[in-house]
Amino acid sequence: MADMKIPRATAKRLPIYYQYLNILADAGQKRISSSEFAAGVKVDPRTIRRDFSHFGTLGKRGYGYDVADLLAFFKKILKQDQVTKVALVGVGNLGHALLNFNFHRDNNIAIRAAFDIDPAVVGTTIDDIRVYPLTELQNQLQEQAIKVVILTVPEAAAQTVTDQLIAAGVEGIMNFTPTRINVPATVIVQNVNLTSELQTLIYFLNHRSLDQQGTNKE
Ligand code: NAD
Repeated sequence: MADMKIPRATAKRLPIYYQYLNILADAGQKRISSSEFAAGVKVDPRTIRRDFSHFGTLGKRGYGYDVADLLAFFKKILKQDQVTKVALVGVGNLGHALLNFNFHRDNNIAIRAAFDIDPAVVGTTIDDIRVYPLTELQNQLQEQAIKVVILTVPEAAAQTVTDQLIAAGVEGIMNFTPTRINVPATVIVQNVNLTSELQTLIYFLNHRSLDQQGTNKE
């Protein structure tokens, strides 16, 4: 499963499916039809069928999906059956907000360390997360075996910090900076660009047809 290649758009929808299955399981629901599932996640049923087809047979015709089975499957795929430790670099406006959020609703992702160069913030603790000086980056990431980093430094510092992250053995970067950072092929970057997300939303608002209304875009 580790080296399975699935389209990026499919990969982006998997957490949506997973979160909805958690809601169903919490509500004690044992089984769901494919049309109810599609309505719940607000994704077109054909898209769901195509997404699921990458993983073989997940539902049964005429039965729908077994909630517990499907949840267990996505939990494993998304590595939510184990805690993933994450660090954050750049404790400014956005960094603070993300540390305070700390992905509480999903306790299998845990921000364990933060880094900055500003003496005003270094040494403080935000929501139980210690802010270390950047000089501690390599030590802490290696000591705590952290391979995933959220990057929230100013644009001008993005590449320099990225190079330091790579030297420290980081394998995945969630990049909030507008810079398209350069990384070796072994490192995966997920760019989060709020401006382009908003532009995409505005595009869809201006080009929507009736059958698109109420559908989620990924
Ligand atoms: P900010 O200036 O408030 O915070 C940046 C932080 O990074 C500061 O604490 C600064 O001391 C620290 N920093 C600077 N150089 C560093 C280095 N070399 N190593 C470690 N830390 C360093 O900026 P912000 O508003 O939080 O934005 C951060 C990044 O996220 C920017 O690239 C911005 O474009 C992007 N972004 C921000 C927002 C937002 O809503 N604020 C939204 C989308 C994207």
